[in-house]
Amino acid sequence: MSELNDLCCTDLVQRVTDGQLAVKDVVAAAFKRADSVVAGHEGLNIILHSDRKESRKAAEETLSSIASAEPPGLLAGVPVVLKDNIATLGLPTTCGSRILDGYVSPYEATAVTRMRAQGAIVIAKTNMDEFAMGSSTENSAYGPARNPHDPSRVPGGSSGGSAACVAAGIAPVGFGSETGGSVRQPAAFCGVVGVKPTYGRVSRFGLVAFASSLDQIGVFGRTVNDAARGLEAIAGFDPYDSTTSDEPVPEYSLAATHLHERPRADKKRRKNPDTKELSPKDPSDLKGVVFGWPREYFPENLDPGIRALCERARDRLSSLGATFREVSLPHTSLAIPVYYIVAPAEASSNLARFDGVRYGPRVKSEFGLKGMYEDTRSEGFGPEVTRRILLGTYVLSAGYYDAYYRKAQMVRTLIAQDFREVFNSGVHLLLTPTTPTTAFEIGAIKDPYEMYLSDIFTATANLAGVPAMSLPIGRTNGLPVGGQIIAPHFGEEEMFRAAFALEQALGKEAHS
Ligand code: GLN
Repeated sequence: MSELNDLCCTDLVQRVTDGQLAVKDVVAAAFKRADSVVAGHEGLNIILHSDRKESRKAAEETLSSIASAEPPGLLAGVPVVLKDNIATLGLPTTCGSRILDGYVSPYEATAVTRMRAQGAIVIAKTNMDEFAMGSSTENSAYGPARNPHDPSRVPGGSSGGSAACVAAGIAPVGFGSETGGSVRQPAAFCGVVGVKPTYGRVSRFGLVAFASSLDQIGVFGRTVNDAARGLEAIAGFDPYDSTTSDEPVPEYSLAATHLHERPRADKKRRKNPDTKELSPKDPSDLKGVVFGWPREYFPENLDPGIRALCERARDRLSSLGATFREVSLPHTSLAIPVYYIVAPAEASSNLARFDGVRYGPRVKSEFGLKGMYEDTRSEGFGPEVTRRILLGTYVLSAGYYDAYYRKAQMVRTLIAQDFREVFNSGVHLLLTPTTPTTAFEIGAIKDPYEMYLSDIFTATANLAGVPAMSLPIGRTNGLPVGGQIIAPHFGEEEMFRAAFALEQALGKEAHS
């Protein structure tokens, strides 16, 4: 790996601002890596759109803004990749769907505006399951993406392209979206860090809606600190999204930094204007932190390799002073059935806007306007999206609304209550596996229901709105395994502190 692709954000920002490193060289290294990844694996198919000339121009502009304006941004000169459902000016936003082929948004997502203001350089839009529906990135209309650790396997999904780009060293930070695990699951499969913030922590303005009560933009990083920096750059209240919170944003990246290194990391730092003071606790000391070990996440038939790595992570956290308590979240097994009613219901309504009139290509029909709608939607949407729209329409229809949609909403409340009760009982964080398996072979899972089960450990946090993250905790059979830390609403600071502590304690073990 060339040195430039290896740098973490803290070092990258430091060297760019000290003038030791030209931003254009950082961007050139990113594209060089993208080329070698493509050449090396006959195409991982992880990038959908990029514009090298524009990226170089952005690099030059960033350089001059660094020279003229201090303090430099949190992501000054950092190349980033974005899932293709996050609206950008200048690059298409297709959501991995034919129905948005070639579509370029006339406005940009708030998260993108915020990361650019912090000096990030958007270098590519990444492959994804169509409209973020899937767990493998095989549902993309532009062909399946592959896992850089083993190209015969999936990178996970639906934000598989972003996870794979970060794992392959193309960019240190990537952005994806979560509705039911789509950042944490691919992070686990690709051996990187993936964070889903509290619902309302990050603006959804410009994130193409899938299921609005669940959707949230999330972040990938090679390290906990890089992911924390990415989230810190984009979090905060947005007048364009009434579901965002005005809760101040802690300096997450400092929570994931040792106390004695904080002044250096903080040097000449441009803050996210919404940030608040941070607790002065050092991450290497977890005394007083109580972890819950939820028994429903460790079923008897759990893959023994994954269980053993979770136990090792638990031992490392314990040796830093944390204590563990077995807890129960009794409605966990209902998360998948609930999710697959609520999410398709909302999707069926959100996706009604794609009708060949306002966005993307239009299929002409001899049967008038209605025929045009039907043909455009039939040709534009792939099989999984079609299945979800049908499912969603069904569970919302007059005769079935009470039996399915209403009941699912009631059970969703019980799932949220499970978390509330555990966190009210003196437990600060939860440790669980992120996924029940490691990355599977492309084409191995044909039954949609079996694919849905990939999310059994992740969909719960989306339904409850609580923050959660996955970080690498080792390998089994040569493939990366993710450990999940779940926190109470707006508990990201404590979550990052513990994740950083675990990452440091595991060291090389996290990837072996
Ligand atoms: N895999 C889940 C689904 O297919 C979650 C997707 C997501 O989080 N966007 O809906």
